[in-house]
Amino acid sequence: MSILIWFVALTGIFLVLAYHRASLIIWTMSYALFMGFTSYFSGMTAGTIVAWIFYLLFFIPLNVKPLRQRWLTRPLFRIYQKVMPSMSQTEREAISAGTVTWEADLFRGNPDWNKLLSIPAARLTEEEQAFINGPLETLCRMINDWDITHNRADLPSEMWTYLKEQGFFGLIIPKQYGGKEFSAYAHSEILTKVSGLSITVSTTIAVPNSLGPAELLLHYGTEEQKNYYLPRLAKGEEIPCFALTSPSAGSDAGAMHDHGIICKGEHEGKETLGIRLTWNKRYITLAPIATVIGLAFKLYDPDHLLGEVDDIGITCALIPASIPGVEIGRRHFPLDTPFQNGPTKGKDVFIPLDWIIGGKKMAGKGWGMLMECLAAGRGITLPASAVGGAKVLSYTTGAYARIRRQFNVPIGQFEGIEEPLARIAASTYIMNAARTFVTAAIDEGEKPAVASAIVKYHVTELGRKIACDSMDIHGGKGICLGPHNYLGRGYESAPIAITVEGANILTRSMIIFGQGAIRCHPYVLAEMEAAHIKDAKAALDAFDKVVTKHIAYGVSNIVRTFLLALCSGRFVFAPKTKVKRYFQQATRFSSALALFSDVSMLVLGGKLKRKESLSARLGDILSHLYLLSSVLKIYYDQGRCKEDLPLVRFASEHCLFEIQERFSELLQNFPNRWMAFTLRWLIFPYGRRFAKAKDKYNHKIASLILSPTATRDRLSHGAFLTDVPENNLAAVQDALVKAIAAEPIEKILKEAVHKNEISGYTPMENAQLALEKNIISQEQYDVYVEASAACGKVIAVDDFSPDELSSQTNSTNTHKPNLAIL
Ligand SMILES: Cc1cc2nc3c(=O)[nH]c(=O)nc-3n(C[C@H](O)[C@H](O)[C@H](O)COP(=O)(O)OP(=O)(O)OC[C@H]3O[C@@H](n4cnc5c(N)ncnc54)[C@H](O)[C@@H]3O)c2cc1C
Repeated sequence: MSILIWFVALTGIFLVLAYHRASLIIWTMSYALFMGFTSYFSGMTAGTIVAWIFYLLFFIPLNVKPLRQRWLTRPLFRIYQKVMPSMSQTEREAISAGTVTWEADLFRGNPDWNKLLSIPAARLTEEEQAFINGPLETLCRMINDWDITHNRADLPSEMWTYLKEQGFFGLIIPKQYGGKEFSAYAHSEILTKVSGLSITVSTTIAVPNSLGPAELLLHYGTEEQKNYYLPRLAKGEEIPCFALTSPSAGSDAGAMHDHGIICKGEHEGKETLGIRLTWNKRYITLAPIATVIGLAFKLYDPDHLLGEVDDIGITCALIPASIPGVEIGRRHFPLDTPFQNGPTKGKDVFIPLDWIIGGKKMAGKGWGMLMECLAAGRGITLPASAVGGAKVLSYTTGAYARIRRQFNVPIGQFEGIEEPLARIAASTYIMNAARTFVTAAIDEGEKPAVASAIVKYHVTELGRKIACDSMDIHGGKGICLGPHNYLGRGYESAPIAITVEGANILTRSMIIFGQGAIRCHPYVLAEMEAAHIKDAKAALDAFDKVVTKHIAYGVSNIVRTFLLALCSGRFVFAPKTKVKRYFQQATRFSSALALFSDVSMLVLGGKLKRKESLSARLGDILSHLYLLSSVLKIYYDQGRCKEDLPLVRFASEHCLFEIQERFSELLQNFPNRWMAFTLRWLIFPYGRRFAKAKDKYNHKIASLILSPTATRDRLSHGAFLTDVPENNLAAVQDALVKAIAAEPIEKILKEAVHKNEISGYTPMENAQLALEKNIISQEQYDVYVEASAACGKVIAVDDFSPDELSSQTNSTNTHKPNLAIL
């Protein structure tokens, strides 16, 4: 019995220490204290002597550095060096770019929810709000997307002028250079609003404010370059583009063949040390009209005019488009979304060295520069454009489903339609939460590389899915293009957001977990860095510093995962609100992710990099934890609105279900079957308990966007909803309000038809007959007529004379595919 008590007490101490991630010294002291008590009360029995021997053989060597290094660290380090994945310079730069934020807490298995809730919420300054209410509102009134996409294939010239004059191209440029110096959140809000109206206009604004020359100049430019270019870019006197992609190098931009050779040449009549450049780039946004091209190329110095190195590496320079040898002007046509986009070429173009962004000292540092800027930028532009679209979809699709009737009822009342409606609303909530959360982090000075990749991937994917849902709900109304179609062009352009700034499949397969595991893990980066230290002793010391902590972390994750799974996270500290369980379940899965990540790295080592399906699923788990956190965060930041709870529940349960399913797929496919069996037992001791979000939420959520509710207002907040005749969204809202007002009258008419009191051929005839027979009043008749007219206007689709449609194709066809690959 006493042995049993002893064993239970020891196990209890072990579990408590492991759960709370005690340090080695606490473990050592706790064990010594426990054994001291045991020896004092039970005397030195055979059992206590064995336990003390274990202490001497296990804990003492672990605490004495030379012994630890000899018996544990050195052998482990040898194995580690063998299995560690090799990494190219470009990979290393990509992985080390940016910072990590909340996603690291989620990765490490023990997120502090108070910390999440105390992160400052994204806010606009008065000046930013005034810009949104003023110049941005005016711009929105000017936008006629049909005219832009169908008639002109460009913005009208007065819009170009307006954008330049009002500083739309200098949103991120500091005031000292004449820019707006807006926050990332304001920048995102501006793009969100415009994207709901026109992807062509929003992309035009986005490029100069994202990974264009302005951002690179701000971070790396010389004073001279900043003073020259930034004021000109802020005023739109220079139109920039940034050219990285080429026919031979898409996702793997580091494989580009575009090159520059260090040589002497003539510049402004003088012999100058410079670069002879040759490039062939494609898909470059704003290139056809650019006045300055940011160019990424590989720089070589075969004659050693700069130094000893032949292959200097990827370099970024600013090339005025007007210099001899630069070719621009031709256009690609990205999915009926005619923002200026096209190829650019140059052959043997000579530029002086000081056109390198940051000057000579930044030669060869281009890849790192681009990755750093992308670490933040990826969280702004494309998430904003997807959220802009989602806000419009939530606003219009719910309304359309209320005013559009089939089988004599609004289609929004069919369960089949409620399901996609719920998806649209919940996805909009998740998307907006995630882009708000990540921009708030950027505004706190972070460059959240992993979080930006998560948000870019998931927000654009959700955007594409709900664009399909909305099209399905709108039926033919969504398909027939024309000035009154508010969906079609956004639906068409969804794949653009999927492809640019890191194509989504690649982002999911390689970046989210690939970079996340190294950057978010508390010890892996330090271990990898140790393996790269040339001096053997220093390398072992560096490895030794972290490896015991890593082992303790691993043990802790096993214990935490199992205990949290056993009690379904019930004892995790979390704010006591209606969503408490979601916080707790997230902690449970966060621990399981920490454990699974370590086991995957341990079992697969360098092979994990090539096991993209495993890596992608681990990334999905991290991503859904991040999305769930964003949802809970925005729910708190918006004051925990009771009416939004169905959305929060749906979104949270969706995330938890996705996490469970990805774990399950990982377990099914994990190469080491014994390990998979053990992990399954630790993570799901009772099996898979999470189900898809319940059907009952579909009805509740659909009803939130089938009427003008406060939740619908919050979901669409920031979209262009102004009541002006040319705004399709205002027409939809008008129809919705009038349709709801007319619903009781419709009921009266229906009853009258049922009782054979009226029998017109059309609903309007019935209304007329009902008025004549005093079944409805004049006032009711007027309400009914107005509603019918307003709904008819929304339900109508455009039609064209054959000439109008053929006018586009009559123009001389001058297409010629660019077959050249450098
Ligand atoms: C409209 C538009 C605007 C653009 N604007 C610019 C711009 O301004 N400047 C600029 O430099 N570039 C620009 N781009 C280029 C854009 O960044 C590239 O299209 C993108 O990098 C993908 O390259 P790709 O199209 O050649 O596809 P590929 O690289 O050929 O990829 C094809 C598919 O393979 C997948 N894939 C590739 N590698 C892997 C992997 N290891 N694992 C799993 N899947 C993988 C990708 O995810 C993708 O689904 C633009 C592109 C478009 C279409």
